[in-house]
Order: sequence, then structure tokens, then C-alpha cells
Amino acid sequence: MRSLKRQVAARDHGCCYVCGGDGADELEHKVPVSQGGAKRDLNNLGLIHSEPCHREKTAREAAAGARRAREDR
Ligand SMILES: [Zn+2]
Repeated sequence: MRSLKRQVAARDHGCCYVCGGDGADELEHKVPVSQGGAKRDLNNLGLIHSEPCHREKTAREAAAGARRAREDR
């Protein structure tokens, strides 16, 4: 995982793929693995700020998941 993060950091120059700012400190799946995203595909990996970008993305995904769950019923 560490080497994947290095590769993504080099490709994206340390920029967060959500807000475009630099200094992103976490590696994150753009499409969650739980939603069919590729786990070790660099194209599905991006750097993200743990705060606030990752937290907000997780909240959005949780809300989307809740919507889908309601629609499935
Ligand atoms: Zn960010």
C-alpha cells in the first residue's frame, strides 16, 4: 500500500483529487471497492485530505447508500 501511495503521490503531485489542493495525506479509492471499484488500480486511486475532503466524501457516500437502500425496498 505504501508503494501504491508513493506512485499516486508522484502522479498527482500530492494534490487532493477532491479539492485540487496540495498536501493531501491519504490514499483513497475514487470508486469505493464496495461499489465495484478496483482495489489496486492506480486509475481508481487518488490522494485526498483526511479532513475535510475524506470525511465529507464518506458522508456523501453514506447518504447515497441510504438513498439506494430506500429505493431498493
Ligand atoms: Zn482536499
